[in-house]
Amino acid sequence: MEPLYQSKIECICCEMTFTTSRVRPSFKKATKSDSDFCGYYKSEINPDYYVVRVCPSCGYATTENGLERLSDLQKKQYHERIGSRWQRQEYGGERSVTQAMRCYKLALLSAQAVGEKDRVIAGLLHHIAWLYRYEANQHEEKRFLRFALQSYIRVYETEGVSLNNAKLMYLIGELYRRIGEENDAVRWFSRVVNDKKIVDAAMIRASREQWQLIREEAEARRLGSSGESALPESDNGEEKSISTSA
Ligand SMILES: [Zn+2]
Repeated sequence: MEPLYQSKIECICCEMTFTTSRVRPSFKKATKSDSDFCGYYKSEINPDYYVVRVCPSCGYATTENGLERLSDLQKKQYHERIGSRWQRQEYGGERSVTQAMRCYKLALLSAQAVGEKDRVIAGLLHHIAWLYRYEANQHEEKRFLRFALQSYIRVYETEGVSLNNAKLMYLIGELYRRIGEENDAVRWFSRVVNDKKIVDAAMIRASREQWQLIREEAEARRLGSSGESALPESDNGEEKSISTSA
């Protein structure tokens, strides 16, 4: 079975119908994921590349989480900022990482033009950071993690402390950790761990683990700078045989 299939969509901006590729559910399972939920997949098709639907006719790009309809004012804003300069382009087939990046950036521009919710914008920014991570472009990855973080904080400030926000709070902590601002990371992890109202066991455990990781790395740096070995001696025979044969 082919991982991709075609689906018809009506553009909420210009009302034209177009086809976009979607990934069959059996190909959507990640083989592993990073501590900020960036997924890795066994098949060559990465489901994350197909989240954004781009209208070939007007260029409006959105995801399933985006607005369901646009007001006349929002359409006008989109047209003035992007649509009027759009030249017909198709993203309906299989996408390379470069094309996926263009789709996400179009979705970001579209979302900003029509004043999309911060939660949607944060998700797009975070996905763009992941695409840079797949390409090992650390500089751009960090830049977009920082943008995503600022958006997640805005989401938290507007939605306030609700029971469902443990994952959001964990993510804020984790993105602070990934951009190297460890004090802020600890502040957010400790909130998740210590707030009695939070009952999300998975997020409490994840926050505890990442907090512990920060402590261990700080300890390793302290030992490293005082001249001692920063890493414990490995007593793992397998690891040793790998390093000596290399
Ligand atoms: Zn359109």
